[in-house]
Amino acid sequence: MSDKQLGFDTLQIHAGSAPDPATGARQTPIYQTTAYVFRDADHAAALFNLQEVGFIYSRLTNPTVAVLQERIATLEGGAGAVCCSSGHAAQIMALFPLMGPGKNVVVSTRLYGGTITQFSQTIKRFGWSAKFIDFDDTAAVKAAIDDDTRAVFCESIANPGGYITDLRAIADVADEAGLPLIVDNTSATPYLCNPIAHGATLVVHSTTKYLTGNGTVTGGVVVDSGKFDWMASDKFPSLSEPEPAYHGLCFGEVLGPMAFTFHGIAIGLRDLGMTMNPQAAHYTLMGIETLSLRMERHVENAMKIAAWLENHDTVEAVTYAGLPSSPYNHRVASVCPKGAGALFTVALKGGYDSCVKLVDSLELFSHVANLGDTRSLIIHSASTTHRQLTEEQQVAAGAAPNVVRLSIGIEDADDLMADLDQGLAKASA
Ligand SMILES: *Cc1c(COP(=O)(O)O)cnc(C)c1O
Repeated sequence: MSDKQLGFDTLQIHAGSAPDPATGARQTPIYQTTAYVFRDADHAAALFNLQEVGFIYSRLTNPTVAVLQERIATLEGGAGAVCCSSGHAAQIMALFPLMGPGKNVVVSTRLYGGTITQFSQTIKRFGWSAKFIDFDDTAAVKAAIDDDTRAVFCESIANPGGYITDLRAIADVADEAGLPLIVDNTSATPYLCNPIAHGATLVVHSTTKYLTGNGTVTGGVVVDSGKFDWMASDKFPSLSEPEPAYHGLCFGEVLGPMAFTFHGIAIGLRDLGMTMNPQAAHYTLMGIETLSLRMERHVENAMKIAAWLENHDTVEAVTYAGLPSSPYNHRVASVCPKGAGALFTVALKGGYDSCVKLVDSLELFSHVANLGDTRSLIIHSASTTHRQLTEEQQVAAGAAPNVVRLSIGIEDADDLMADLDQGLAKASA
């Protein structure tokens, strides 16, 4: 049976895995090992030359991590994937082969707060820069691209503002400029959205969130569609020219659709070392087995609770793309037809003070800097995750001071609404 014919529910359990050849173990073992014995010296040389694919050292590859890589690549419809130690690591790993000193990436203003900080501040240390643009304005995205631009970056469903990107329109702009589009698909997951089907070249995830789903481990992944022609211009010399850091191998020429993935392992993980460990891969593999079931419940609960909150006396507004009142509701059918995710923000009539009181009054909702857990979570972004941003950046990112972000879990919706109701009563008292 070819993986292509199987449905999502089957692939989330089986893709990339098989009974362990040594022991018959049905579940993917945690290969808790640093190194792998070579058959002989020729075998070792073939592995180091990338002439044979196998395991050398767990900074590069590990069998447990490899199963997760293949599973996520399959669910996203990609050619290959590289797992990393966190979502932020995945973003650096995605940009690393494309960028260089003086090069820029054109990015959406509507991004995860930590990503805004990474792109507006930290990447400058590498000589890279980011141009922040309103991605609803495709003409502005196009105008921002210059000769030094090497990628376009956005989120499918943007955390936290209930925003959905018109991925096809942005992919067309990137295509026309001969640039890869990188989509952070963390908030949607491959169950709700497949960015590659909308023209994305690379998909990144924080596997910390819904893919693991149980709040146990941090991780990230870069999935490559295998569709971008790195040889078509001289913009991506790491992939199109002999790589001096790998005895002159030209990844684009030799490895075709797997060029980006092999570069990510052979250069990215080898030299940056942002490797996922096998324990983390195990927890994420456990989580992925139930991804579709969880996402269905996440979406169902989010719809109910967002609609209920929108009519609550203490609430000024709810930004959830699943609601007809959302300006992004019309994009749900094309971008994420199974639902708009389970993250949204709620603006309270009582402003900043009510937000802080609500966060302190809830009992089932946990006040944490995380999202995509089975548990319902709440955070006041302006005083926490988005604290480093200016008020203008906070507003642009959907994290204004009078707003709390909810990550709706898979508990009983009635229990969650009862908790919110008592919390809102205290917050507005
Ligand atoms: C959490 C998150 C990240 C960063 O991932 P980490 O695993 O925390 O490094 C990036 N993008 C989005 C949308 C996220 O939610």
